[in-house]
Amino acid sequence: MTGVTTAWSLARAGHEVTVIDKADTIASGTSYANAAQLSYSFVDSLATPDFLPELPGLLFGRHAGARVGFDAEMVTWGLQFVAECRRSRSDRATIRLLELADSSARLLDTLLDEVALDFDYRDAGKTVLLPDAESVRRAEKQVELKRRYGSDVDVLDARAALAVEPTLADMSERFEGVVYSAADTVGDACAFSRALAAHLESDHGVRFAMGTEVDAFHLDGLRVAGVIAGAETIPADAVVVCLGTGSRKLVGSLGIHLPIIPVRGYSVTLPLGARPPVTSVTSLENHFVFTRLGERMRIAGFTDFRGFDTSNDDARIRDLVKTARNSAPLAADYEAGEWNAWGGFRPMTPDSQPRVGKTRREGLYLNTGHGMLGWTLAPATASIVADAVTNGA
Ligand SMILES: Cc1cc2nc3c(=O)[nH]c(=O)nc-3n(C[C@H](O)[C@H](O)[C@H](O)COP(=O)(O)OP(=O)(O)OC[C@H]3O[C@@H](n4cnc5c(N)ncnc54)[C@H](O)[C@@H]3O)c2cc1C
Repeated sequence: MTGVTTAWSLARAGHEVTVIDKADTIASGTSYANAAQLSYSFVDSLATPDFLPELPGLLFGRHAGARVGFDAEMVTWGLQFVAECRRSRSDRATIRLLELADSSARLLDTLLDEVALDFDYRDAGKTVLLPDAESVRRAEKQVELKRRYGSDVDVLDARAALAVEPTLADMSERFEGVVYSAADTVGDACAFSRALAAHLESDHGVRFAMGTEVDAFHLDGLRVAGVIAGAETIPADAVVVCLGTGSRKLVGSLGIHLPIIPVRGYSVTLPLGARPPVTSVTSLENHFVFTRLGERMRIAGFTDFRGFDTSNDDARIRDLVKTARNSAPLAADYEAGEWNAWGGFRPMTPDSQPRVGKTRREGLYLNTGHGMLGWTLAPATASIVADAVTNGA
């Protein structure tokens, strides 16, 4: 998704663009089956002071929605993450993300005015369940900050919440209130990326070199002058790295450290149940969301910090379905034979900020590290990096 939106912004600025991906099809990495939320008002930095009391429970596996493994990389990243939990840093990070999200919303509107794309896009609104009085109090403070920066977001008590999302009455999960953001939308990120790629190929002459793994950068002195893929050297005036969790290794080969770790999440996509929610519904307590996409219900979530380990996927997907079924039995048809189960690695930075723009190596640019927010932020970061390439700055 990040690569395709970058190609869009570069092509519109008049550049000749080639997208290179080791996968055979567009958006088959983390952009394939995410939670489908364009959550412009809910881009809070993961690192907050409120997170710290949760940490022991997370580390010792007491939260069903998270698993943590330990290695040197994880410990270093974790210490950076804890440093980002200071109130001042956390608020600054959230404000920056709100600004990016606002820009993204406007850029996506512009894009959709120019190109008709079919991706189950909908003005759904978003409700985030607040389990107790303490979470309501915290949410009120956070909403105050967001409203100062233009977000259309409210804290509703349980009664008002039921008026905007009546199916909350069917849920077993306790809630004292919800955060409600009317302006947040939903859409299938994979369908969007594939449709945009097809448009770029046919109308803008963008080339797609699929099934092509980049092994190294092609250098001209110190300048990055292209990439090397197997026996092939592909020359370029500028290279933009949009490789998600693959970015760190490749960019690291030039001595540039990217603090990006993989954080695994999962989804299933089921037929609709008897009473599917209209808004996208997020459970903070259980770390997952329900998003209706046309006639399908996407249930996505969990945050597993266990490197690139996928050995536990089957068990985690069963956990996800079980938690969802207990929480909202009427939201989806859990008896459907096919779960369309999926797992993806979020490219997570300790401060929840993507790494975007020029690097210290001439010719090398970044648009990566979008963590939990790649779909929401992609149009904005693509535009920033395309401007940097165009201006060489
Ligand atoms: C469960 C889950 C739910 C999520 N929900 C949401 C949501 O609701 N809203 C939201 O905004 N975000 C969400 N996200 C986050 C979002 O999906 C990611 O931030 C986003 O997909 C990252 O996109 P990307 O293009 O940077 O990475 P990817 O989609 O992973 O793309 C990277 C590409 O690089 C290619 N690649 C890697 N290395 C190489 C190499 N050496 N050579 C060539 N190609 C290479 C890969 O094949 C891949 O296609 C969610 C993530 C998960 C896991």
